[in-house]
Amino acid sequence: MTAHLHIPAPRSKALFDSAFVLSVEGRHHESDELLALAHEMRELEYQLGEIASHAPDALAELLIKSALMGFSDEDSPNDYIDANREVIDFYSTHDNDLRRLIEVIRSPKQYTRSEDKISEAELADARQVVKARIEAEPGRAAVTDWTITPAAVALAARGYKQFLNNGRCSILRECPACRSKYSTKVHRDKRIYWHCPQCNTIKEA
Ligand SMILES: [Zn+2]
Repeated sequence: MTAHLHIPAPRSKALFDSAFVLSVEGRHHESDELLALAHEMRELEYQLGEIASHAPDALAELLIKSALMGFSDEDSPNDYIDANREVIDFYSTHDNDLRRLIEVIRSPKQYTRSEDKISEAELADARQVVKARIEAEPGRAAVTDWTITPAAVALAARGYKQFLNNGRCSILRECPACRSKYSTKVHRDKRIYWHCPQCNTIKEA
């Protein structure tokens, strides 16, 4: 699972919410276009958040102050130093923080979509559930796949729901990682994911 900074992300959230509504309405293509925008927006929000989180607290105030104190060629260097004593002190005290800040601005951390997986314990529980269902209703054995079915049960136990075409069929695609045909479109908390039972990955769409 990717850890993200906890920063307010209201603009991307609005886009993710709208993409979810479109998918629920079966307008998957439009939803995908909006998702791409939502990720671009969230990437910007995270980068700004990352930069803001590395800035020393008083930096903004200091930048405003230093912008107000000009230096002209007629001033003597001592006058300049006296006028800017506070600024110079700030930079000398926060030297390391400021270097780190500049580093973050120059090479922002790579933005990644969140990714999760189902644990072995969850899968073991789900296999027991599937087994019990087959015992209760032996006809189910014919439509049970021992990779796909327990994974779907475990996913549902986590609160993920499948998107359905015409209220019945799962929405499947080829998994870009393993090429199996069973990557399934699911959602939780109004966010869209692709779950591949072969790779055991739940990747944000
Ligand atoms: Zn896969």
